[in-house]
Amino acid sequence: MISALCLGLLLFIPVCNSFVQGGPSPLSVYALRLGPGEEILTSLFKFVKEKRLKAPFVITCVGSVTKATLRLANCDALNTNEIIHLRERLEIVSLVGTLNEEAHLHVSLADKIGKTIGGHALGDLEVFTTAEIVIGELSNLEFTREMDEHTGFPELVISPRSQNVTGV
Ligand SMILES: [Zn+2]
Repeated sequence: MISALCLGLLLFIPVCNSFVQGGPSPLSVYALRLGPGEEILTSLFKFVKEKRLKAPFVITCVGSVTKATLRLANCDALNTNEIIHLRERLEIVSLVGTLNEEAHLHVSLADKIGKTIGGHALGDLEVFTTAEIVIGELSNLEFTREMDEHTGFPELVISPRSQNVTGV
C-alpha cells in the first residue's frame, strides 16, 4: 500500500525533474591531446566553439599541470573567498563535468607525494607534460544555464535540441 507521503513524492518528483533531465541521446566522442604550456579550460572552450558542440562534457582527462585555481566546497554566492591557487607540479587524477559555455568542471590533482586535492576548476590549469582528454557530445540535447535563486548559482538546464531548432 502506498502511503500518502509516498504518493505525494511520486506526484512531486516528475514535476520537479522536468527541466533537469533529458535524453536518451546519441553520443559523439572526440579525443584531443594538449601540450606543455597550454591552459586546459581555455583550450577546451576553444575546441567546443570550433566544433559547435551544444551538450558537451568531459569523459576523461589525465595528464599533469604546473598550476591550478580551484573553488572549494564552502564557497557559495555570499562567500566567494574559498578559492586556492596552486603553484606546483600536479598529476591530473580526474577532470569531469559539463563543458558548455558556462562550464561546470571538477578536478582532482595529486602532488609529489600522492596527496590529492580537488575542487571546482576555475582555471590556470597549465599543462606540464601532457593532457589526454576525451570529450562526449550528446547529439539530441543542448546545455544552457539559468540562475537558480535557491542555490545562488547559474545551474544546468537541459533542453531537447529539436525544440530550439523549431523555435527559430
Ligand atoms: Zn562545482
